[in-house]
Amino acid sequence: MLKIVLDKFRTRDALDMRVRSLLVKTLYTKPLSLTIGAINGVFASVIAAVYSDNAWMYAAVLLLFLIAVARISSVLYFSGRKTNRRSARRLELLYEFGAFSYSGVLGSIAAMSLVLQLPTAVEVLMIAIALGYGTGASARNAGRPAIAIGQLAFTLGPVFVGALIVGGLPFYVLAFSIALMIPAIWSITMIIFNTLRESIGSAQTSAQLADRMQTLARTDVVTGLANRAGLNHELVERLMELEPDSELAMFWLDLDRFKEVNDLLGHPVGDRVLAEIAKRLKERSPFGASVSRFGGDEFVIICKVDRRKGAERLGRELLEDINRPIIIDTERLTIGCSIGIAMLPQDGEDADTLMQSADLALYHAKVNGRNQMCFFDPSMTRDLVRRREIEHELRTALTRDELSIFFQPIVDLETGRIRTFEALVRWFHPEKGELRPDEFIPVAEECGAIITLGNWITAQAAKACAQWPEDVTVAVNLSPLQIKAPGAAMGILAALREAKLDPSRLELEVTESLFLEDNHSTGDFINELSEAGVRFAMDDFGTGYSSLGYINKYPFKKIKVDRSFVSGDNVGVKSNAIIRAVAEMGSTLEMDIVAEGLETLEQVRAVREAGCTLGQGYYFSRAVPDYLAAMLLAQERDEDRPKMMGTR
Ligand code: C2E
Ligand code: CA
Ligand code: CA
Repeated sequence: MLKIVLDKFRTRDALDMRVRSLLVKTLYTKPLSLTIGAINGVFASVIAAVYSDNAWMYAAVLLLFLIAVARISSVLYFSGRKTNRRSARRLELLYEFGAFSYSGVLGSIAAMSLVLQLPTAVEVLMIAIALGYGTGASARNAGRPAIAIGQLAFTLGPVFVGALIVGGLPFYVLAFSIALMIPAIWSITMIIFNTLRESIGSAQTSAQLADRMQTLARTDVVTGLANRAGLNHELVERLMELEPDSELAMFWLDLDRFKEVNDLLGHPVGDRVLAEIAKRLKERSPFGASVSRFGGDEFVIICKVDRRKGAERLGRELLEDINRPIIIDTERLTIGCSIGIAMLPQDGEDADTLMQSADLALYHAKVNGRNQMCFFDPSMTRDLVRRREIEHELRTALTRDELSIFFQPIVDLETGRIRTFEALVRWFHPEKGELRPDEFIPVAEECGAIITLGNWITAQAAKACAQWPEDVTVAVNLSPLQIKAPGAAMGILAALREAKLDPSRLELEVTESLFLEDNHSTGDFINELSEAGVRFAMDDFGTGYSSLGYINKYPFKKIKVDRSFVSGDNVGVKSNAIIRAVAEMGSTLEMDIVAEGLETLEQVRAVREAGCTLGQGYYFSRAVPDYLAAMLLAQERDEDRPKMMGTR
């Protein structure tokens, strides 16, 4: 009968397992009330046993004591432990067993006190204890009604029977009130239980909802990978879980020239490319790796690796995967990618340092020429610190008059006369001394200061040139960024007007890197200025793609053969042959060919013999301040003979 009642309860409070685990937990928290109940019950029972002097009573009290000790220890042991579905069920059964047996024995001792007709005070004590325990337990265990009602029934049931056996009006009334009490407390328990269940249930629902929202907030919609927030979260988790001896690698990937895909083919195609790349990265990454999109066209992969070798292998595979053509509709796209790799713990023990290291390594991979990977190296941090300093100080250098323009002559190899001065910027830093343009021009390009700096250089060079004889021109180096700035051509023409210099006396030196991202603005710039009379020279020829396509496409008047073909360790038959070929092309296309970096007489002779028409280098002169440049010209005209070509 009791089993049926309990089963009925079990089905009535059939709950979502998670809610149930939580409710079971309430049984095991706060062991204080259980301990008080146990102490009270055992004490009262000992008194009843002593008064009865009955062997059964003593046995029952001993049993009650043992159950009480076992329950208190089990609650102390299990409170605060994590539960799962199965352990929750086991814990519940264990609790049920302890609770029912304790209640049954306590109720029986109370009933026996009545039946054995112990002194009234003892009877009152036992009935009070049994009633108090039964109702108290119901309230305490309302989280599991089956247990609560079971305990109530097991405690009060024997008292009810005992009261009936003893008989007499007061005991009948006691039995009657117990009979009424059980359903009353039952209903109270159910009310508490339902409230409890609902509040836990709704807390669970909002927790689940919050969980889902969080997952959404950490996911990138385009690729389905984790986004920046997701990456941060995962990184922190990974660092916490990392075993002491294992190594972690962070790959920071940046697609090369992805912006062009977006600009030319539209964002929907761009998104599909990103999704495809994400898929490839996920497939290639080892099990357990976290792959995320850091934003734009950047991805970050974190995974365990077998030392640097393992990371290198994975990096290569990732590059290969990305480089495989992507077919979208009819379009076949090949995407390049640069990868920076940082290893934990060597390159950073916390998330921030690791990311900084990987980012720096990525930067170097890009600078080294894209579509390659680069491991972090501590020297990169030192470089970065210096670059930051330079970037910071460059902004004030102009206003503090720390910059000036020097001029290096470009000499006619036939006549020995100066035909052009190349303007080369110099920075005399009050603390660092003279800084090389190779060091600060790239920084200026990176931080955008090159626009202001470049305009200033052009203006200064034009002003200086306006003071020179009419047949001497000035050459100014332009960085690709300057050319892409809006209104670049107009700015240069304005500088010429300001200096009252004829456009034909300005020569602009550009490098092939300008054509890496060949677009309209480059062509427009060159054409507009060419039409105005400005001339263009291809600088550092032979170091880049050396594509003759550009020379053919744009009106270049001059090619400057890089100094690595003239002076340096690798100069030989091969470089001589290249100079000859370029020189021959120059004479066919009526272009001047300049040999850069001439330092010795032998070199001068060699390049002249190879067909170069102009020469530049320390053999003739280093770059000098404007007054010295003017002096060189005056001297030359005074003597009116090939002064510089000492041997002729
Ligand atoms: P570049 O345009 O190739 O300039 C020639 C560089 O070679 C200059 O270095 C010059 O001093 C050096 N040089 C000239 N003759 C010789 C020689 O016989 N032997 C050797 N070893 N070197 C020689 P500099 O002035 O340090 O400039 C380095 C680079 O910085 C330039 O290379 C140019 O790309 C850039 N740069 C310099 N000034 C400017 C500027 O005003 N604007 C821009 N955008 N870039 C500049
Ligand atoms: Ca140059
Ligand atoms: Ca050059």
